[in-house]
Amino acid sequence: MSDPVVILGGGCTGPLLGLLLARRGHTVRLYERRADARRVQLPAGRSINLALAARGIAALERAGVVEAVRPLLVPMRGRMVHDLAGEPRFLRYGQRPHELLYAVSRADLNRVLVDAAEAAGVQFHFEHACRGADFTRGQVEIEDLVAGLRFELPLAAVLAADGSGSALRQAMVGAGLASAREETLAHRYKELTIPAGRDGRHQLALGALHIWPRGGHMLIALPNVDGTFTATLFLPAEGGPVSFASLAPAGAARRLFERDFPGVLALVADLEAQYAANPVGRMSTVYAAPWHAGGRALLIGDAAHAIVPFHGQGMNCAFEDCRVLDELLATAPDWQTRFARFDALRREDTAAIARMAIENYTEMRDTVRDPSFALQKELSLELERRHPERFIPRYSMVMFHSEIPYAEAERRGAIQARLLDEATRGCTRLGDVRLAPLEAAITAQLAPIAPPGA
Ligand SMILES: Cc1cc2nc3c(=O)[nH]c(=O)nc-3n(C[C@H](O)[C@H](O)[C@H](O)COP(=O)(O)OP(=O)(O)OC[C@H]3O[C@@H](n4cnc5c(N)ncnc54)[C@H](O)[C@@H]3O)c2cc1C
Repeated sequence: MSDPVVILGGGCTGPLLGLLLARRGHTVRLYERRADARRVQLPAGRSINLALAARGIAALERAGVVEAVRPLLVPMRGRMVHDLAGEPRFLRYGQRPHELLYAVSRADLNRVLVDAAEAAGVQFHFEHACRGADFTRGQVEIEDLVAGLRFELPLAAVLAADGSGSALRQAMVGAGLASAREETLAHRYKELTIPAGRDGRHQLALGALHIWPRGGHMLIALPNVDGTFTATLFLPAEGGPVSFASLAPAGAARRLFERDFPGVLALVADLEAQYAANPVGRMSTVYAAPWHAGGRALLIGDAAHAIVPFHGQGMNCAFEDCRVLDELLATAPDWQTRFARFDALRREDTAAIARMAIENYTEMRDTVRDPSFALQKELSLELERRHPERFIPRYSMVMFHSEIPYAEAERRGAIQARLLDEATRGCTRLGDVRLAPLEAAITAQLAPIAPPGA
């Protein structure tokens, strides 16, 4: 094949993309700023583990790596909601056996993908950072961080998977080829480890993503294969009585946990030490357009459309990007056409998941506490049983139905939310809901979902 394809970034997206390209016979060179995580222990970056769902799995299947990834996965069938009083409540995500999410270590997943991509022929250049691009001369600048040398590569078929702070996106904006805006949430996050028990087993119930919703803030925890859980505390950066700024004084974090998360405090003996040592992370949505510079460069994954993490979809969406681009490799004749079609195909869907991810934050930290939320979830599952081709809960469409585009999930979800609101007004249990008019409205307003490939 012609010129090598250059991938910038070896995080979630880059290695999977490289693998897919190599399987199609392309020569691929990947440049990653960090060291090779298979050889050196890297400091824990952002989010130690992630939720993998259907869209991500579909792309991993396409790349032939699902079996290699499977041993890394810890299934989660629903949310375990820990209110301040009473027993934890389990709210299942879906009703079919395959409707579950998987917690996966970001580092382990990355190692598997890098190994598979390397075995398929991708040449990895770790500790090499993109420093910019000159679109007039058609060069992308790379710095070898070990040798301290800079060199240039032709700016032809460059795929920028260099994350939300993308150097290539900045170069495109600097050259007047794109516009970009990053909206940072007023909330931040900090990760803490809930250790395994003395017997080496998980100290919280397995099979669930745990949530401690407290209105303006929340704690969540995802299981790891080694018996630990990674907990993430989400708080406003500043302002109000509970914020990262207000927790700065010694002892303040412990007092928050004593009041709001006593069950977790009992499991984390070194809370203060972890709280002091672990960084506070920001969360942003990136809006950029266009994502491509002719056939020379394409932004993909977070570099194009980073989203906030509350739907657990950033990586899944980036993997779906890889699947879509792989389909275009088979059907579109040249890079310019592939990049332009990719941009056209993915724009509406990624905008939809960006909005749904922001909305989901309110649901996770607040709405989930409301008894009407549990009733609506129960009713949704009942309606899905009765009308599986018309009514699928929005959460399920996003997480379990890779054949339903995000924008379609958002559109149908809005109709469903209105119907659920109307039907549950004044109701406290499923038996109170008048099903006949609701089912008539579903038939009238929600067209059957076409089966995949129809
Ligand atoms: C707290 C948190 C929790 C999350 N949870 C989930 C979840 O449960 N499920 C989910 O699907 N998504 C989740 N996400 C989102 C997910 O992490 C991202 O969407 C995903 O990592 C995007 O992959 P990427 O490859 O585009 O970017 P990244 O994974 O950020 O990879 C970018 C890579 O590029 C490298 N790089 C950066 N600059 C340069 C440069 N100049 N030159 C060369 N290399 C460079 C970086 O070192 C990095 O390796 C979460 C995010 C956060 C912050």
